[in-house]
Amino acid sequence: MLGIKTTTIQSQSLFEKAKNFIPGGVNSPVRAFKAVGGNPIFIKSAKGAYIFDEDGNQYIELINSWGPMILGHAHPAIEEAILQAAKNSFSFGAPTAKEVEMAELIIQMIPSIEKVRMVNSGTEACMSAIRVARGYTGKPKIIKFEGCYHGHGDSFLIAAGSGAVTMGVPDSAGVTTGVALDTLTAPFNDLEAVKALIEANPNQVAAIIVEPVVGNMGCVPPKEGFLQGLRNLCTQNGIVLIFDEVMTGFRLAKGGAQERFGIRPDLTTLGKIIGGGLPVGAYGGKKEIMDWVAPMGKVYQAGTLSGNPVAMSAGLAMLKILNENPQIYTDLEVITSQIVSGIKGVLKELSLNYTINQVGSMFTLFFTENEVYDFTTAKSSNLAFFGKYFREMLQRGVYLAPSQFESLFVSNALSSEDVAHIVATNREVLKLMHT
Ligand SMILES: *Cc1c(COP(=O)(O)O)cnc(C)c1O
Repeated sequence: MLGIKTTTIQSQSLFEKAKNFIPGGVNSPVRAFKAVGGNPIFIKSAKGAYIFDEDGNQYIELINSWGPMILGHAHPAIEEAILQAAKNSFSFGAPTAKEVEMAELIIQMIPSIEKVRMVNSGTEACMSAIRVARGYTGKPKIIKFEGCYHGHGDSFLIAAGSGAVTMGVPDSAGVTTGVALDTLTAPFNDLEAVKALIEANPNQVAAIIVEPVVGNMGCVPPKEGFLQGLRNLCTQNGIVLIFDEVMTGFRLAKGGAQERFGIRPDLTTLGKIIGGGLPVGAYGGKKEIMDWVAPMGKVYQAGTLSGNPVAMSAGLAMLKILNENPQIYTDLEVITSQIVSGIKGVLKELSLNYTINQVGSMFTLFFTENEVYDFTTAKSSNLAFFGKYFREMLQRGVYLAPSQFESLFVSNALSSEDVAHIVATNREVLKLMHT
């Protein structure tokens, strides 16, 4: 039985209580449902394609912990790896064989990575990668793209100024102007803007960091030639090209977006899937750059729990399955395309012209008729419509990301009945919204 069949009273009372003790009642802002109205549901358990809340309601998963649960929830091999690892204690703060195995496997799966350092989150991976790029180049500034998210490091919380060559202004209280001045922003898919920034800041730019396929303004693919153009600009100007593959790594192919699009970045950041659901991140790339990291080099970066044995075991179990079963990526693409073409069919039936972007097992339905290729076009979406859509889908048992500006993440645990339910629910909800 899918959907909110009884009430959400347990979730409501937990949220009321949580607000007394946790800022906003949640440990990460987007969980608060602020963008869509209503209160979050509290999750009790999940298995395969389904998630269950504290009131016993069941939903089909299209978030999957924001990506990590690419094989569905509580995959038996990962569960077993965690249980076995836990028997040998949970942390040593000293090297283990698992870390060596993990590094070797990552390097095998992502050939642009020659050396890799494990951390505990995607945020940490991105913060560290830009520090290394700065250390290596001796230059202060970075270029990022409007609407791309690279975790909550100070340098990344910068909104765009007006015009491509304007300096950044902080997008969060607590970020200093000094930090903001070192972050330059350009619209995604706009090579000319990047070129202009590089020309206006000669010998100042250490790194360009980009989500090769954006997930954090909804799913936005790179235009033909955009990633190659960034690669060329970086090579010509001695700039470190960082692909933030925290979302796309091990998702769009076993070697991530860089494999799919055939571009070799200098550094790559990883997170989400790499931990199999446990808190893990990593950054890696060219030997020449990574050898700047302490204790070999002069760039300091450390972590008490980095390479944690239980987390490594979960991540290794996940990556081994993905590495040894390339069919998974074909299946994911088929399942996602079935959902997307189903929704496109519904839109056609109802004479709606909303935009759907899909790359592999990532997709977003944008409530706009514009093509969505950057943050400005993403923002042309009707957010009130999205909020209504989200709530009605949830009510009927489809658990979506609670924001228009998030990609959905498909797992291979979805059955053809689940796909049919997702499409039928879209038909019902979109009809309801437009009559
Ligand atoms: C999620 C995400 C991050 C941040 O990772 P956390 O583990 O949440 O710190 C960074 N970059 C991208 C592209 C992400 O999707």
